[in-house]
Amino acid sequence: MPVMSASAPFDAGTLRLPENLPPELLRQWQSAADDRERAQALTGMARFMRDSSMRAAQQLGEAALELAMQAGAPEEATLALVGLGFVAAHLNQPDRSQESVARATELIHEHGLSHLRSSVVNVRALTQMLIGDMNSARQDLQEALSTAQQEGDPGDIGNALVNLGWLANSAGDPGEALHQLNLLEEHIHTLSDADIIHDLNNYLHENRAAAYVLLARRARDRGRPEAAEQAARQGLMVLRAATASLRTHPSLTTEVLCHAHESALHLLLGNLSGAQQAADRAAAMNSDLDQQLYIEVPMCLAELHEAQGDPAAALADYHRALSIVRSQKRHRDTQVILRAMAALHERAGQYPQALQVLRDALQDTQDALERVNTAAQRHLSLAHDLQQARQDASSWQDRLRHAETQARQDPLTGLLNRRGLEEGLPALTGNGDALLAALFLDIDHFKRVNDRHSHAGGDRALQGVAQVLRAQLTRWPHALLARYGGEEFVLITPVTDAAQAHALAEACRRAVAAHDWTALLPGTNLTASVGYAVEPGERLPEALSQADEHLYRAKRAGRNRVYPPSD
Ligand code: GH3
Ligand code: MG
Ligand code: MG
Repeated sequence: MPVMSASAPFDAGTLRLPENLPPELLRQWQSAADDRERAQALTGMARFMRDSSMRAAQQLGEAALELAMQAGAPEEATLALVGLGFVAAHLNQPDRSQESVARATELIHEHGLSHLRSSVVNVRALTQMLIGDMNSARQDLQEALSTAQQEGDPGDIGNALVNLGWLANSAGDPGEALHQLNLLEEHIHTLSDADIIHDLNNYLHENRAAAYVLLARRARDRGRPEAAEQAARQGLMVLRAATASLRTHPSLTTEVLCHAHESALHLLLGNLSGAQQAADRAAAMNSDLDQQLYIEVPMCLAELHEAQGDPAAALADYHRALSIVRSQKRHRDTQVILRAMAALHERAGQYPQALQVLRDALQDTQDALERVNTAAQRHLSLAHDLQQARQDASSWQDRLRHAETQARQDPLTGLLNRRGLEEGLPALTGNGDALLAALFLDIDHFKRVNDRHSHAGGDRALQGVAQVLRAQLTRWPHALLARYGGEEFVLITPVTDAAQAHALAEACRRAVAAHDWTALLPGTNLTASVGYAVEPGERLPEALSQADEHLYRAKRAGRNRVYPPSD
């Protein structure tokens, strides 16, 4: 597993802190004299919470950023952004991760915070890995290492070495991983800060054990059982060191991974019951975590099931793992699982299935390449925007807030974009029972508008419709209104019943049809169709797909109407 470095006007009084925080973190928070120190305390808590709940860490990190901005403390803001970038990478939100990295980079540049540079580049590497760009990740980690060496920061040097080891393991190069981890061990011997030492030791042992699992598997696959056995035994020895280290410095995530490695190593040594016990422990602990970040657990279960002569159960394990990583667009893990599945089919003589899985893998690679390219472009344009913004006279806090808002906004209409909508939803769905209405509104025959009035005219029409819709919402303070792409708008709001949703849908439709478009689109009467659905908040995904289906029916029924009609 990888690591990273230590270390609305916001009212600190309203913040709900997670339970079970270590006393020293609570003390730091309670004794903080000002917002800058409160930001430091929150960043420390966020770092602690990452081990069990990335979501909790994200909330704390956002609060830390807000406080740092209020306090006018760019260094604390940068540290909060670094943490947010790390968390977003692990929550599989590469866009958000990139944005945090771009902003942190900009702050470092503007405020001369070069001692924080290594930690930012380190997080950038994690994002690159997540989207499957291993080469950029490796370059970034080398840069993070040399920057940390120049700055003489022992924690950052350690982090870069851990991540280089982790990257090598992930790239299937255990020899290189062990080399990086040996460098790490030498580095740890030069340290005196006990916290950093313990932290790095956990990562050292866990990644080393992972490397021995890879080495043993490779030896086995090459028909060298003695070498395989030797590597597996070395792996188990490393795990004993890990157990000791975890006792002094607990980390749930590291422990889960170590149990999964232990299961794999026992299996390599032919000890099925030992493998089963370790796999059970890994699975039980993993289900206690608020996150499914690593595939090691389902993978070790799958291997065990195959070894127990139950390939169907093994395939089910792989499919479970696959559905997690696919929904999160985790290219690298997807490839690992698909390769394992293809090998399983081959061993079972199921060649057509093996071929199909390999085709899926190829398709996934093509999708991932596209994402890498888009991400690279986004990165450039983000950096450019931030640099441009520096030319104007506003404060760094205002620019940061402005960039935050922009990332959630559709630039043409000023409405929320898809991401802004997604991020606004938890506030609405939090109260699971309350009814929510989802409305899809799509402009009718919009292609004709573009044809008659040019694309620029079409854009003005989109802005006009956005304005008309916004004006409908003055009495709906909680409504989220987004441009969902093209000429389609989405509105989500709490309602008391379906009749209210219908009335709102009808009001929106009528407002578009009744608006005087002659100035904007001479000779065209713009209309729109609306589909809506009402569900309890927790069933919002169902409401959205129903509303989409209902929009289609409104179009089929002749456009300029609402579906379902009122009863
Ligand atoms: P329907 O009544 O069935 O919705 O027909 P339509 O022509 O509105 O729907 P369709 O989805 O076939 O076409 C949507 C058009 O919207 C096609 C695309 O060129 C145009 N469009 C999408 N995004 C933009 C944009 O940002 N600006 C402009 N001007 N046009 C856009
Ligand atoms: Mg349309
Ligand atoms: Mg459309």
